Amino acid sequence: MMNFDTNSNGEKKPCRTCTDFKTWAKQQKSVYRAKSEGGDSYDSQVTPNKPLSETGRFKHGCPVDKDVLGHSTWNLLHTMAAVYPDKPTETQKQDVKTFFGILSRTYPCDVCAKDLANELKEEPIVANSSEDLSQWLCRLHNKVNVKIGKPEFDCSKVNERWRDGWLDGSCD
Ligand SMILES: Cc1cc2nc3c(=O)[nH]c(=O)nc-3n(C[C@H](O)[C@H](O)[C@H](O)COP(=O)(O)OP(=O)(O)OC[C@H]3O[C@@H](n4cnc5c(N)ncnc54)[C@H](O)[C@@H]3O)c2cc1C
Repeated sequence: MMNFDTNSNGEKKPCRTCTDFKTWAKQQKSVYRAKSEGGDSYDSQVTPNKPLSETGRFKHGCPVDKDVLGHSTWNLLHTMAAVYPDKPTETQKQDVKTFFGILSRTYPCDVCAKDLANELKEEPIVANSSEDLSQWLCRLHNKVNVKIGKPEFDCSKVNERWRDGWLDGSCD
């Protein structure tokens, strides 16, 4: 699905961070085609020397889409949980709660941010230890996975995935 932002001139512009790469690329191709045929366009930055690819999901040096943003953010969040203390101070607990609260208001994909805010209300963050936080985050991520049709991750493997590396030694 394509979502739109409105720019400072009041024109509608596809919201890249709310849109998966293929949909975005398809949309941008038709914009470029319309431009080349002399049609009107909302995006003056689409230029012939910046072709868009439907094959790759990440283009170095280009703005990110919803999926790349999401993947990068999960990397950050799960790694934060993996290195979170086993016995955090009250300040550390408060900091991580504040961080997620702010993330739910500032995450640059509107629908994702709203969804995160609702999830935080439904199942408030558990930050008593690294294990608690990692498991809570795993459940949160799984709720998103289910909503968007992705398989659920086995939360018993969260430390292998995000802290220790796989038991088969493939990360050594
Ligand atoms: C807070 C947040 C909210 C989001 N909300 C939406 C939304 O509402 N709609 C939408 O379309 N997209 C949303 N996204 C993006 C979406 O979750 C994915 O990041 C995106 O679809 C790319 O998926 P991916 O296949 O790269 O794997 P990702 O889901 O990004 O996962 C990255 C890696 O994490 C590991 N992993 C997967 N699940 C778990 C888990 N439960 N616990 C631990 N590790 C796990 C896997 O190894 C996986 O390769 C959101 C992202 C974030 C960070």
